[in-house]
Formats: sequence, C-alpha cells, structure tokens
Amino acid sequence: MSKSFDIGIESLAGGATAVREGRHGHLGSFAAPAEEELQKSDSSAFESDSRSASIAIPTDTKKSFYIETFGCQMNAHDSEKVSGVLLGRGYHAVENPMQADLVLYNTCSIREKAAQKVFARLGDWKTVANGKIIGVLGCVAQQEGEEIFERAPWVSLVCGSASYRKLPELLAQLEAGGRRVTGLDLDTDETFETEITRRDNPIRAYITIIEGCDYSCSYCVVPHTRGPERSRSSEAVLAEARRLADAGYTEIQLLGQTVNSYRDPSARKWKFVDLLRGVAAVKRIRRVRFTTSHPNDFHREIVEAIDETPELCDHVHLPVQSGSNAILRAMRRTYTREEYLAKIEWIRAASRPISITSDIIVGFPGETDADFEESLTLLDAAQYDAIFSFTYSPRPNTSAKDMPDAIPEAEKSRRLAVMNERQRQIQIARNEKLVGETFEVLVDARHAARGQWGGRTSCNRLINFTTTRENLLGEYVSVQVTRGGPNSLVGEQVL
Ligand code: SAM
Ligand code: SF4
Repeated sequence: MSKSFDIGIESLAGGATAVREGRHGHLGSFAAPAEEELQKSDSSAFESDSRSASIAIPTDTKKSFYIETFGCQMNAHDSEKVSGVLLGRGYHAVENPMQADLVLYNTCSIREKAAQKVFARLGDWKTVANGKIIGVLGCVAQQEGEEIFERAPWVSLVCGSASYRKLPELLAQLEAGGRRVTGLDLDTDETFETEITRRDNPIRAYITIIEGCDYSCSYCVVPHTRGPERSRSSEAVLAEARRLADAGYTEIQLLGQTVNSYRDPSARKWKFVDLLRGVAAVKRIRRVRFTTSHPNDFHREIVEAIDETPELCDHVHLPVQSGSNAILRAMRRTYTREEYLAKIEWIRAASRPISITSDIIVGFPGETDADFEESLTLLDAAQYDAIFSFTYSPRPNTSAKDMPDAIPEAEKSRRLAVMNERQRQIQIARNEKLVGETFEVLVDARHAARGQWGGRTSCNRLINFTTTRENLLGEYVSVQVTRGGPNSLVGEQVL
C-alpha cells in the first residue's frame, strides 16, 4: 500500500531552480518489474534515488499527508502534482497512512475492479479515521461525486481531476474546519498547472501535455471523469522540459489520454509533432517518449519525426482495442482494422526499429467467436512487442453499458487467456531474434540478489544484465542481448 517517497522536487517558484532529495541520501534497492509481470511495461516501482540535493520545502511542518494512487501513468503523475501542491502548503509526506493528517486516494474507475478497490480502502477507515482528513481524488471522485459522503461519511474531500486547479482553495476550506468539500466541475478549458511537482521517479520525468478526451468510445469513462480535451501551451511544456533537464533528468515522457491529439492553444499553434521535435531539442534531454496515441490522430509525420530525431524513442503505443470492424464500430473507435494496419505499416517501414505496443479489449458486448478470431489474427499481422489486454468491464455513463449480447465473465476470461498466449508466442519469437544485438540502456534498477542491473532500451524493452561495473543507476550503457524471454531480455554490458 505504501509508496516510497524518494523525491525530486521541481519548483516553478525559483525559475530554473530544481532541487531533489533522496530519502536516505544513498543508493538503495530499486525494484523493476519482474519478467512475469511485464505484459504491462511501464509499472516499475522505484525505491531510491541515485542523486541527492538540498531541498527548499520545509520538512519540520506539523501537517502530514499520505497519497495512494490507483490506475494509469497519468494518475501517477497527477499525484506527483497534487503532492507538489501539498508540499507548497507546508505539508510533508509520510509513508504510513496511520501517521498522516491528510490521507488521499487518487482513484481509477476505468474498470469496475479498480473502483471497488477504492471503496475497500475507504472502508478501512470506518472506525479509525480519528480526526484525519480523508479525501478521494480522480475518476471515482468524479463519477460517484457526493454519493461518496453517503457511502463513507468519514470522507471530507471529493475532487475530480478537472478540478485539481482548485485544490489550494479546497484545502484552505478543509484547514478552516470544512467538513465536506467538493471539486466536481467538469466544464473547464483550464489545465492543472502547479508551482511545485514532486518527482517520484528519479530516472524518468513525466509531463502532461493534454488533459481530458474529446472522443466518445462507447466503453470508456474517461470523457465523463476527466472532462473535455485541453492542451497546455507549448511554451509551458518546453519550460517544464528545460527545468527537468536542469534538474538532471535525461528522459521525459509526454502524457495524455490521446497525447497525439495535442493542439497548442497559444499563438504559435504547434501541432503534436512540432512539440515532439521541440522537447527533443531541449539541451541534455536524451530520450522523449509519449503515450497514449489515438490511431485516428496518428499521422505519418510522427513516424518521420521519430526517424529523423535520435532523441525521440523507438516506441509507439497505439491501442487498437479490437481487430473486428463490427466491434470497432460498436466501440466508436473511428477507424477500421485496415486503416489501423496501414498505420502499423508506416511504423514498420521506418528506418529505425520502432517497437509497437497496444491495448486490446476482449468480450465486448456482441463479440462473436469470429470477431474474437479477428483480434487474434490482428496480433499476428501487427506483431506487437507487448500488449495490455483487458476483459470488457461495463461502466456507468457509457453507451456500451446497456448493449445487448453481454459475454459471460467465464468466456471473457477464456478469450483473455487465449489472446495472452498468442501474444506470448509472438513476443518469444520477436525477443529471440534480438539475441546478439547491442542496445543503449538507461539503467533504472539494481537486482542485488540476482547480481543483475535492469534498464530500458529506447524501444522500451526491459533488459536485465550483468556487468563488472558499479553504481550504474541513471547511466546510459551498452548491453548485448544474450537471451530473450517473453517479457524481457537478458544481457551483458559491453565495456
Ligand atoms: N486513450 C487511450 C486510447 O484511446 O486508446 C486509452 C486510455 S484508457 C485509460 C486505457 C485502456 O483501458 C484502454 O485503451 C482500454 O483498452 C482499456 N479500457 C478502457 N475502458 C475499458 C472498459 N470499460 N473495459 C475494459 N477495458 C477498458
Ligand atoms: Fe477513452 Fe476513447 Fe478517450 Fe481513449 S480515446 S480515453 S478509450 S474515450
């Protein structure tokens, strides 16, 4: 439940001053995802920071907070920004919720299980809240609204992500004794800009470039929980990237539910591809990633930019959701299987070896055996490097919720297992072909027990390797692949 607070603080207040703090001021153990966990490639947990610096935030304050995050990378980064707001108000972070004055849950409601987990957590406080302020943030907050106060009367704060900019105001009301405070406004064209952002990952820094979503996929809660699409100005994004580079970060990941729908609201009117090139040109930034791309807004010029710009990583995450045109139509995905595969062709035709990952849902209402078979043959055609596969979960306020011909849970699970096995075979074959190749790896993990280090290639493959060198965290090293597993590679450092 707890997350370590090895933090980097990036402060807007002092212009380019960015200060970071390692919890113990020494190298500790990093935990990278185990091979078997790695169908989902971006779930590394970091437990230490290799760099240390002084910190301008007071640490002797009386008010403390604890925040637990559920769900996607965007939620994780929202929590970094919310934590920044709290640090700026004089709170300090603790690792145990029992020790906190303010306990926040930043929630996800993309699938039913994620939403249920939050209510289980809230239930834990029923008899022991003892004057603590308990708050619910994120998608469940937006979706359930004031209903949360009915189900868990010990909760005092309910705030959806589209209202985070109001957090200072809401916190002031709570500090003044407010009992039930809400931020549930969805109708906004503003983005969440923070004076301070806490950086939990010492190796990779995140920048949200676009919030909300203007698509209306029939299964998805995001437009209802995160509100309409709002892009940040290109200047604000570039300024943040420069501050991160000054703080020592070399890898940046640009975030958005549909990151490539980015449209600069400023007079400069940059397109997504201009922003990609702009961030890649920031001095000392060596790697730029971006997620998640919507196929509809994925244009050939993005592939050209990757091909021409070494700092843009060799990886595109392009969720397809289904291989069947009938299901894509029912999902309101706005493209056909053929159009999607044509985009995969552009990526495969690039001169750089760009890896491709995807999201797929199985068991959407009405998905026949033939539709499911089309998703399987799409895996064969696309040759993904990894997929995130999900069983369809009916969600409130979505049009798919009441569609006929629901697929029984057992059948959904069966299809998921079949799909994962098919993809596993593809990954084994693809990764085996990489044996003998050498990759540049940004080291982000130490597996002391196995005598290995871990890191990511530009194409976002996890590679665990041996070396005679020490203190590699945060370094770029060359690693030759000696073995390919289904979800990761094994190698040796080339010295
Ligand atoms: N914006 C991204 C896109 O358009 O592909 C997806 C963002 S969503 C937070 C992440 C993934 O969750 C989706 O790509 C989809 O595969 C999955 N997902 C969303 N709603 C779902 C549902 N109701 N049931 C199962 N999976 C779902
Ligand atoms: Fe959800 Fe579709 Fe928007 Fe992605 S594009 S966040 S799946 S509505």
